[in-house]
Amino acid sequence: MSEWETVIGLEVHSELATKTKLFCGCRNAFGDEPNVNICPTCIGLPGALPVLNEQAVELAMRIGAALHCDIRPSEFARKNYFYPDQAKDYQISQYDLPLNAEGWLDLPDGFRVGVTRAHMEEDTGKLTHVGASGRINAAEHALVDYNRSGVPLVEIVSEPDMRTSAQARAYASELRGILIATGASDGRMEEGSMRVDANVSVRPVGSHEFGTRCEIKNLNSFSSLGRAIDYEVGRQIALLESGGVVDQETRHWDESAGRTEALRSKEEANDYRYFPEPDLVPLLVTEKLWEAARNAMPTELPIERAARFERELGLNADRARELAFNAERGDYFERALAAVHGDGVDAVELSNWIPQVVERIGDLSPAESKVSPESLAALVGMVKASEVSRDAGREVLSLLVQEGGDPRAIVAREGLGAISATEDGLGELIDQAIAADPTAAEQVRAGNMRAIGPLVGYVMRETKGRADGGEVTRLIRERLG
Ligand code: ADP
Ligand code: MG
Ligand code: ZN
Repeated sequence: MSEWETVIGLEVHSELATKTKLFCGCRNAFGDEPNVNICPTCIGLPGALPVLNEQAVELAMRIGAALHCDIRPSEFARKNYFYPDQAKDYQISQYDLPLNAEGWLDLPDGFRVGVTRAHMEEDTGKLTHVGASGRINAAEHALVDYNRSGVPLVEIVSEPDMRTSAQARAYASELRGILIATGASDGRMEEGSMRVDANVSVRPVGSHEFGTRCEIKNLNSFSSLGRAIDYEVGRQIALLESGGVVDQETRHWDESAGRTEALRSKEEANDYRYFPEPDLVPLLVTEKLWEAARNAMPTELPIERAARFERELGLNADRARELAFNAERGDYFERALAAVHGDGVDAVELSNWIPQVVERIGDLSPAESKVSPESLAALVGMVKASEVSRDAGREVLSLLVQEGGDPRAIVAREGLGAISATEDGLGELIDQAIAADPTAAEQVRAGNMRAIGPLVGYVMRETKGRADGGEVTRLIRERLG
């Protein structure tokens, strides 16, 4: 058995947040009644002509600029293929002359991924297969909705630079942060606004040639992306090690089965018979449009936000990046920070709680969870003020995740408030702890502070974590002279 290296390149489709579609004046909106946002142009009726949407070009340029691309004179091309959700039988895309080319994106750990191109194209409509099983093969009929047909997209194609599924996830997550930060897209993966195709191959370690790749289509969450890549790598290695070959093909990720399945053998670019779109002139970006794009760029990209978190808030580099490269987490953190009032909670302390929220909410975004940034701020304030111990605070957080609401009310209801030094109960428990472990007590008296652990542990156990460990330690030392 040899050692294998994984090679990954991602293609990310991002819908642009324009008011109208790419080549007509129909509304660009998600979730409307089917087939209300359509016109002769976006359903390809004879004689209808495309007119390029200036706002779409501007948003596409923002993406190019944020990814350090060259923004170039470009050309639209027809990509010819039949699919029922595409009424014209061709898609207007860009081919050999894309708007944005040759950029890069740095991952949080500094690893640089090349961006080959980020070109403009139109989206297709949407098919719904109707039938009891929901499977395409068993469908009784299909419905087509052309609302999405002609919605502007930017397809961002990476170089095959990534080597692990973790890097692929980091890339997709950071790219999403950039799309949102630039205002180019809302980045909603669950609404199909951002869709990821993963190209995966393996090769023997040390080899300089790439192996044959498979393309896994339409992954719509970061966790599917990671799992699909891991599965596919295992499949390809097993195939090669048993003497087989990998066929270049397009595969589908079956979420519930947890595996990829062959969809079709891979088409080549020349199968599409690309040719320059005769109804559109080449696109030359004017200085005026350039200026509009530059002026609209956010004052802060994720990487800059991370730098600010480090510089101004004192977060360490890892934490700063973890928050800044995930736009939602970053916003959540900053809202919580704004809600902290004069109770001495600093940014670092607050930031330490965010991973605990994330760990508890799973795939949800913090914004969708029941823990509002304000209630997290209140909880951290209570811990800081020693109104609840750190351990009890974690328990309150778990309850907040389940039921939401006011942390103060939860603390009162569950009796999780800290036992303070002045409460008699604590003194009694300290006496009990000393009586239960006279050897440890003797060692502490003799100056061996390490022996205090079991005594503090006793009190913490008895109070179920409601006492403040530091306070208990202080009291025991006092008691033992
Ligand atoms: P296509 O239209 O055929 O999907 P593209 O050029 O648009 O081709 O995209 C190719 C994608 O596949 C790029 O992201 C590229 O980095 C990636 N890729 C190319 N060769 C390999 C390979 N051997 N292994 C993994 N990824 C690859
Ligand atoms: Mg492709
Ligand atoms: Zn239209």
